[in-house]
Amino acid sequence: MTAATDYHLLVPTYRDDFNTCFYCGCIASAHDYAPPRQYLEFYLATREPSEFLQVPCCTECHDHLKACKAGTLDERCKFAKDKLAKKYAKALTIYEMWTEAELASLDFSLRHSIEAGLKLGAETTERLAYPGFAYEAAGLQHNVEAQAPIYFEVFGEQFTSFREALEFASKAYRIPKNTLKEYFADNDNNFELAIQAVHKQVAEKEFNQQLKQQCAAFAKQHKQAVIFVHKQVERYLSENDDMTISEALEHLYQTRIKPLSRPG
Ligand SMILES: [Zn+2]
Repeated sequence: MTAATDYHLLVPTYRDDFNTCFYCGCIASAHDYAPPRQYLEFYLATREPSEFLQVPCCTECHDHLKACKAGTLDERCKFAKDKLAKKYAKALTIYEMWTEAELASLDFSLRHSIEAGLKLGAETTERLAYPGFAYEAAGLQHNVEAQAPIYFEVFGEQFTSFREALEFASKAYRIPKNTLKEYFADNDNNFELAIQAVHKQVAEKEFNQQLKQQCAAFAKQHKQAVIFVHKQVERYLSENDDMTISEALEHLYQTRIKPLSRPG
């Protein structure tokens, strides 16, 4: 899907660093992309910081970085290391807490597990401290200056950087930056659509809560099954856009529940 030309291959300057994971120093057998390929359009559209690099990495860092949306090498490196630290937290604690000398006093099975923890903890500590290596990447200075100026619009307000626009929109519409950024990427890189989508979701959540509460109260009051009330109300609402929940409940009462008046 993505043209290989959008990324520059990160090439180690020194032979010793060939086939090495840039993030943790293990043997490299995969490539990480900064930014991730599925967010390339977002990074191109917003010019959020990214070096557009194809980075040699190990399978473990590669797997961890699948969840990382960051565009820069620094951010991705930090993310990969945080994941490693979390995954091997137990071993790291053992490595911090125990020394080889203390193992002698332990019974076999405990000694065995502490020994394994020490080894893994030492390895992990080394990987976490790995400083990366000197590299070359064609066109590393990704040129944005030569391009036409770019504007971000938030309901009539114009901004020259995504960062400023995000800051403004987040404050003005009381949406956390992270949430808004995700919605922005998922809504055509458009703030207005993103804000509408967030508000729509909040409104839907509130509506569903109201629906649940009011149906439950109605069911209790009229000794009806909640599921029956719920289904009827949903049907009425889907048939009539202007109807409110209370109107639907009233309609249900009048048509299905109200005792028939005696002929007289
Ligand atoms: Zn790695």
